Amino acid sequence: MNIHEYQAKALLRSYGAPVSDGRVVLRAEEAKTAAGEMDGPLWVVKAQIHAGGRGKGKFKEAGAGEEGGVRLAKSVEEAADEAKKMLGRTLVTKQTGPAGKQVNRVYIEDGAGISKEFYLALLVDRGSSRVSFVASTEGGMDIEEVAESTPEKILSFSVDPATGYQAFHGRRIAFMLGLEGAQIKQCVGLMGTLYKMFLEKDMEMLEINPLILSDKGDLKCLDAKMGFDSNAVYRHRDISELRDVTEEDPKELEASKYDLNYIALDGEIGCMVNGAGLAMATMDIIKLYGAEPANFLDVGGGATKEKVTEAFKIITSDPQVKGILVNIFGGIMRCDVIAEGVVAAVKEVGLKVPLVVRLEGTKVEEGKAIINNSDVDVIAADDLKDGAEKIVKAVKG
Ligand code: ADP
Ligand code: MG
Repeated sequence: MNIHEYQAKALLRSYGAPVSDGRVVLRAEEAKTAAGEMDGPLWVVKAQIHAGGRGKGKFKEAGAGEEGGVRLAKSVEEAADEAKKMLGRTLVTKQTGPAGKQVNRVYIEDGAGISKEFYLALLVDRGSSRVSFVASTEGGMDIEEVAESTPEKILSFSVDPATGYQAFHGRRIAFMLGLEGAQIKQCVGLMGTLYKMFLEKDMEMLEINPLILSDKGDLKCLDAKMGFDSNAVYRHRDISELRDVTEEDPKELEASKYDLNYIALDGEIGCMVNGAGLAMATMDIIKLYGAEPANFLDVGGGATKEKVTEAFKIITSDPQVKGILVNIFGGIMRCDVIAEGVVAAVKEVGLKVPLVVRLEGTKVEEGKAIINNSDVDVIAADDLKDGAEKIVKAVKG
């Protein structure tokens, strides 16, 4: 689960990490008052969407002004004006995809004098099963680009959970960033705070890009991106309250209500599969035959007819879907339950695209009979290869 920058900064503030003063604004009329509560002389107006790269982003609509989703203002009026231009408009960044994201909130922040921008992140390193720090002198930039062109400018190490965070971890980062004097002590303290926060709140990712050295020589978190482990959010009421469902894919949101493992993708072939491994293999083989999957969907082992019906509805609600492949290997899951769900869903929402069904395993004959005795227009497939070939052919001709 991800949260907005302004929410992440409130959390940082509550742990004593240095952030700028700021106000979130939902309606243009509130912008002037909000900006007026800060002294200036510089204000920064920042679009709040769950995606990075806002500074270099572009708005889709006319009237949003020229620059991206992070703008400087030299007066309260100017700040209010920029906020007004951004609210309600669609910002496209490297991370939003071409559709972009609607800006429903802006954050008006005290402008900081910047002498240096660094990159800092904490994340769960699956390789070592530990929390890792990633730091770089190249802040404010695409870290992927830095990793590619100048990997020597990135420092990365993990923290042994048995000892936890130690001052030497912070010093390692401080020296790498070229900090001096009191800044080193500040860095050691800040890294400790971030590590503590990361563990206490069950985060998956915490990215401060940029972490800055201000013109007064202090460290400050100027941007903040936080992701939390969805499986642990239930034990953090304060975090779960920060969820902004308008930032989530409506299809994924619907799927989560029915406990379906669904991820929306960009392709044209909708997939309904049981088991994550088989779902991955199905996506791979669709690609192998020259098409792209529209989603990952694992209906799970104990799916009911209702769950299958909902899954089918979610797939067909995607206008990008030009064909559907149902690929079920019935182990715990029974093929007749899947067949009943598919038939029920087709009756309810209709079928406007080709449907290939491959059933195998428990109660396969019963499942096939249910589909054959219905008037649903199905292309039957014998195995995974056959299914993929048939759906790609049906869609691409
Ligand atoms: P994004 O990463 O989405 O582009 P950032 O919050 O990192 O958004 O902002 C982009 C750039 O804007 C930063 O690298 C920094 O140079 C500048 N910036 C952001 N917030 C402030 C601020 N409060 N004061 C001064 N400059 C800022
Ligand atoms: Mg940033």
